[in-house]
Amino acid sequence: MISVEEALEKILSYVEILEPERKPILDCLGQVLAEDVYSAIDIPPLDNSAMDGYALRAKDTRGACESSPVYLAVVGEVAAGSMPTKEVEPSTAIRIMTGAPLPDGADAVVRFEDTDEMTRKSSGGDHSQIGILRRAKKRLNVRNRGEDIAKGNLVLEKGRVLRPQEIGVLASLGRSTALVIRRPIVAILATGDELIGLDQPLAPGKIHDSNTYTIAAEVSRYGGIPRILGIGRDSIQSLTEKIDEGLDADMLITSGGVSKGDYDIVKDVLAEHGEVGFWTVRMKPGKPLAFGIMKNVEGGRKRQVPHLGLPGNPVSSMITFEQFARPAILKMMGKQILAKPVIRAIIENNIANTDERRLFARVMVTRRGGQYYASVTGPQGSGILTSVAKANGLAVIPENSNGAKAGDIVEVQMLDWGEEQGEVKTWPIVSIVGRSESGKTMLVEQLIGEFKRRGFKIAALKHSHCGDIEVDQPGKDTWKFAQAGSDAVCISSPRKLAFIKKSNHDLRVEEVLPIIGHEFDLVLVEGFKKSKLPKIEVHRQELGDDLLCSPEELSAIVTDGPLDSPLADNYKLPIISWADTAAIADFIEKNFVLNR
Ligand code: AMP
Ligand code: MG
Repeated sequence: MISVEEALEKILSYVEILEPERKPILDCLGQVLAEDVYSAIDIPPLDNSAMDGYALRAKDTRGACESSPVYLAVVGEVAAGSMPTKEVEPSTAIRIMTGAPLPDGADAVVRFEDTDEMTRKSSGGDHSQIGILRRAKKRLNVRNRGEDIAKGNLVLEKGRVLRPQEIGVLASLGRSTALVIRRPIVAILATGDELIGLDQPLAPGKIHDSNTYTIAAEVSRYGGIPRILGIGRDSIQSLTEKIDEGLDADMLITSGGVSKGDYDIVKDVLAEHGEVGFWTVRMKPGKPLAFGIMKNVEGGRKRQVPHLGLPGNPVSSMITFEQFARPAILKMMGKQILAKPVIRAIIENNIANTDERRLFARVMVTRRGGQYYASVTGPQGSGILTSVAKANGLAVIPENSNGAKAGDIVEVQMLDWGEEQGEVKTWPIVSIVGRSESGKTMLVEQLIGEFKRRGFKIAALKHSHCGDIEVDQPGKDTWKFAQAGSDAVCISSPRKLAFIKKSNHDLRVEEVLPIIGHEFDLVLVEGFKKSKLPKIEVHRQELGDDLLCSPEELSAIVTDGPLDSPLADNYKLPIISWADTAAIADFIEKNFVLNR
C-alpha cells in the first residue's frame, strides 16, 4: 500500500500543463491566464468627479460654512459621457455629475449635500449661483486620471486565475479575448454489468449508474470538459472498445472494477493496453485505486493518456476523485494551488480508525461562537452517497491515529470552498509543556517578546491546576458579583477586558479557544499537556532525561543541555537549544503560523 501523498505525486508526475488558447473573456472563467496583460490606456482616462456636485477651485471655498456660505456663479453643467465646454474661473463653479470629466480650472468637487442646492430647488430659486457650505481641500471628490490603472502598466500577470473581477478588469481595458491554458477533456467511463442508464427502468439486480454523473459534475466544477463514454460491461471486449473511444481525451477516468472481485477487470485491460501504476492507497474509503498510462497509436504518433481507475462505490469514487483527479485536472489547467482548503474544527462525534488508513469522514461544518465544529453526517458506508450529499467537508483522521474523540481538533477539507486562494483558516497555536520547574513560563515569556518584535499579535493561555485564579480579587466589584452567584463576570474598560466564568470541570483547551477568538497571529499556550494541541516540551538537564510527553505527541524538544533520549532519536524530533529563542520562534513560525 502507498500513502495518499505518494499516490498523488505519481499521478501528478504523469500530467502536464496543457497548451494555451485564445477565446472570449466570458468563456475564460476559472482558467489560468497564459499571457501578461499590459494596459494601453489610463483608467480612468481623465480626471473626473466621484460625486454629483459642483466643480470649483478649492481656494474659493476658504471660510465657507453652513452659517456663512460662499456664493459662486454657476457657469455651466457637465454630465458623464460629455466633455466640459467651459473653464472654471475664479469665483465660479460648474455643476457636475459623477463620472463627468473635471473642467479645466477646477481642482475639487463639493457634493450637492454640502451646498444650498436643495433649498434652492425646493424654493424654485435662483440657479445662476450656488452657496457652498463647506470648505474643500484640493482634489476633494476628484478621481485622478490613471489612478486605477496607468497606461503601460502590467495589470494581470501570467498565471492569474480569471475570476469575475479579473474578467471585469480585462473588459475595462477593452479586451474581448484572453489567452488562457485550455480546459482538459476528461473521458468518463462507468463499468459494471449491474449498471443501467438513467432513462431505463430498473430491472431486478440492476442499479442506476450514478458515478458517471458525480464525476462529470466534478470535472465541470473544477474547470474540465467531461466526455461521457457511458457504461462498459464487465468483459475485456466491452471495456477495451469503450476505453478506445476515450483515448483522444486528456485523461480517462473509469469507476468500478478495480477491487478483488471476479469481474474486476479494469486493471487487466489497463495492463494489456498500457502501464499499470499502482493498486492500493492507504486511505478509507477508496483503497482500491488504479493508475496507469493508456497508450494509443494515433496517425503513427503515440499518445499517452493518464488513466485513473476509481473504485466503484459511489462515496469512494467521489472522495478519490477529490484527492487525485481534481489536483490532476487543476495541474493540467496551469493552476498553482492544488490542495483543498483545510480548516481546523472541533469534531462533535467519536470516530474510530481501526486499520491504519487515512480516514475521510463526511462532516457538516458549522461556525458557532467564532469556532468551527464538524459533525459526522450519519452512517459512513462507502455506498451511502447521501452521506456526502449532507456534508460540506471531509474530516481527515490520520493513518497513524486510532481515531478522534468528540472535542478533539481535527483538520477538515472543505468541499465547497473556492480554492483559488487556497484559504486555510486554522488556529495558529502551540503549547509549551514540561515538568514543573523546567522553565515553561520563562520560555513562553521569551517567545512573547520575540514574536512581538516580529510584529505578531499574540495571545497567551495558561493552564492552572489550582481552583482559584488570581484575577478574582476579594473585595473588588467583580468578586462581589461572583460572590452574589453570577456564573460569569466580565469587566471591560477603555483599554482591557477580563472575563471570569465558573466551570464545574477542568476546561479543555477547545472550550477556551472560542473566548480568545481568531484575531491573533499566534496563541502560545502553557500547559494543557493532555490536549491534542501541537506541543513543544521544555527539558531541563538537571531534571533527568525522561520526557513528560511521549515523543509521538511532540513537535520538538527545547533543552538546556545534551539530551540523551533514544526515544527522541527514534522519532527524529528536532532538538533546539533553550538559549536560542530566535531558533525556537523560527520553528514555531514555520510550523504553526499559517497564512500570516
Ligand atoms: P466494483 O468496484 O465494480 O466492485 O463496484 C463496487 C460497488 O460500487 C458495487 O456495489 C457497484 O454496484 C457499485 N458501483 C460501481 N459502479 C457504479 C456506478 N457507476 N454507479 C453506482 N454504483 C456503482
Ligand atoms: Mg463492478
